[in-house]
Amino acid sequence: MNNKNISNKILYWYDNNKRNLPWRKKVNQKQREYYTLISEFMLQQTQVKTVIPYFKNFIKKIPDLKTLSKIDDKILLKQWEGLGYYSRAQNLKKTAIKIINEFNGSLPNTIEDLKTLPGVGDYTSSAIMSIVFNEKIVPLDGNVERILKRTLYLKKKYELSKEFLKSKINFFGLSNRAGDYSQAIMEIGALVCKPKSPLCNVCPIKKYCLAYKKNDFEINKLIKKTKTKFFEAIIYEKKNNYLLVKNDKFKFLKNMPIFPMTEVKEKKYKYLKSQKISIKLSNMNMKIALINTSNLPKVKNKILLKRNSLQSQIIPSFTKKIFSTISKY
Ligand code: SF4
Repeated sequence: MNNKNISNKILYWYDNNKRNLPWRKKVNQKQREYYTLISEFMLQQTQVKTVIPYFKNFIKKIPDLKTLSKIDDKILLKQWEGLGYYSRAQNLKKTAIKIINEFNGSLPNTIEDLKTLPGVGDYTSSAIMSIVFNEKIVPLDGNVERILKRTLYLKKKYELSKEFLKSKINFFGLSNRAGDYSQAIMEIGALVCKPKSPLCNVCPIKKYCLAYKKNDFEINKLIKKTKTKFFEAIIYEKKNNYLLVKNDKFKFLKNMPIFPMTEVKEKKYKYLKSQKISIKLSNMNMKIALINTSNLPKVKNKILLKRNSLQSQIIPSFTKKIFSTISKY
């Protein structure tokens, strides 16, 4: 297998087929840093077509790192409303502040320094290194993983771990056009080597693909264990004002408004006779007992919210689901 041929074919395909995405516009280095940071944060767990309008509005309203570092939290969260995973927006602002205070206003250019920024992990730091600094790295995202699993026909359990897949990334070789190259591979994953029905006839690397040879495109995944956890949530209401708290207690929905909650044992949960709901959050099945009370609970970070102001507030869908459940009763 010749990696040079693979990289040439992939780049040729990219030059002729890439999507015209707003963060790929030709801009100066400072803007490239900013556009990449914003788009990579938005693309974590969200599809490209959803991100496009959010990205455009975001850079119109918050055009640079300095503005972002000083932005009012409400305005920031309003820009993010509907994208979900709000901690990304909060991390983005913290990252902007850190870059200004500790890195002279420019994105750091090493993986180690990038990983000190809030919300920047393995993938995002590699993507920034390659797209912004043209470093010869191929970041491993879901698209790249899928191509590797198919081209190398990786099916066994031990072959599906991130570590194993990373060790196989040299299948793609490298290119001097590093930023374009990593985006090109991800683009093939998104547009050609699709999860269902890959378009092998137009794939530039079908000659090197074992899945194509074997006519077997099934993707094996490591199954994440879903945990079931039990909670009680306190529902306190007075004159149509509901008590929420800014969450600094649980790892999920960090800093977002939630009903005051406590994790409880399954035995206690089963014993509770109140109304109950189930909500799936990431790989956690939450079973929540809704406990009505007329005594104002002693909690930190109180927020009192009128039910009819829900639409104008940044409330996670998790909390909205509880609101809609209690409104039915
Ligand atoms: S030939 Fe088909 S399965 Fe193989 S990488 Fe290309 S699109 Fe994916």
